[in-house]
Amino acid sequence: MPPAARSRVALGLTAAAALGRFELQQCRACGMVQYPPREACQSCLSIKLTWKAQTGEGELLASTVLHHSNDLFFRERLPWRLGLIRLASGPAVVAHLHGDVPAAPAMVRVAARLDRAGQAVLVALPDKETPHMADDRQLREFTCDPKFRKILVTDGKTATGQALVKALAAAGADLIWVGHAEPWKKFSGFDELEKIPQVTLVPLDVTDSKNVRELAAEIGGKVDILVNNAEYHRAFGISNRQGVETARAEMDVNYFGLLRLAQEFGPALRSRGADGLASAVAWVNLLSVYALANFPPHGTFSASKAAAHSLAQCLRAEMRPAGVRVVNLFPGPIDDEWNQLLPPPKIAPQALANALVKALRDGIEDVYPGDVAQEWLERWRDNPKALERELSA
Ligand SMILES: [Zn+2]
Repeated sequence: MPPAARSRVALGLTAAAALGRFELQQCRACGMVQYPPREACQSCLSIKLTWKAQTGEGELLASTVLHHSNDLFFRERLPWRLGLIRLASGPAVVAHLHGDVPAAPAMVRVAARLDRAGQAVLVALPDKETPHMADDRQLREFTCDPKFRKILVTDGKTATGQALVKALAAAGADLIWVGHAEPWKKFSGFDELEKIPQVTLVPLDVTDSKNVRELAAEIGGKVDILVNNAEYHRAFGISNRQGVETARAEMDVNYFGLLRLAQEFGPALRSRGADGLASAVAWVNLLSVYALANFPPHGTFSASKAAAHSLAQCLRAEMRPAGVRVVNLFPGPIDDEWNQLLPPPKIAPQALANALVKALRDGIEDVYPGDVAQEWLERWRDNPKALERELSA
């Protein structure tokens, strides 16, 4: 693990980086932007500090290459490039340096990324896109780029599952196992999936503990990224349905399915988190923005996603020491058969899949794809109680 001890105030940088944002503290009294994060403004000592989004534009003043490190993580990855950058917004920062950044002086774009310990670090990228920029050896330590990696997508039957498989194949995945709960049955889109050269269909029913265990024994030691998109979704609240069968089926897939997968695939992934170039890097959960606040017309589904969200936080805590990132997807309503009755806007499965690929490339931990999810996130951050009331209206 890279060194991870940080103060609580420094976690503000990490909280933003988890969403793919680069934010620094700005003083509301004198306007100063500061780095590293502190309890008070370094210029006027005011404690009125606000986290503000940064463009990251800056100039590389000097660079160096480390050939020695006392830290085991970096010692195994030498040589390592570092640079001193003057940000356009004021502060000077030390950052990891992408291999395509030329010698100083040069214009760069600084971004905040999560390292393998799940802490924010600053990375200076070339000012403009360069060919194969994502393949940089140092940058890949901070991302979960699907290129060259072996991936399990747990459900290939749904429109979302098929869009995920296609997007991951297009992003250069080495191999994609695609789960198939009823292997004796063809589903719509089956032939198209089978034609993708990287794809292997495997029997996987996340409600069947024995089946999950058998598949983990077979391929668990090879999976670099696990994408759990299996979900059960019916549109009901409490009063418009008798009994608990539908709610139980939702929990069995959305919550217990995740638990079964985590118990069987988790240990192998954790043990491979530091296997150099062939390491396991990510676990992806398809949650829902309804996990943050209940959407009563889909009330029991929302509850199952809230349970899955809580379990995913536990999984994240257990995966972090191994350097395996848990990525949670919080889409708004997906344009699929279970949301037919909902008016637009809805997110297309393709857009959701592209958002996941981008998040893996950028090393983002919490992904809110599409306008609806973004708006809900902002409202939830602003006032969770107000959102609860708005959703029940
Ligand atoms: Zn100040």
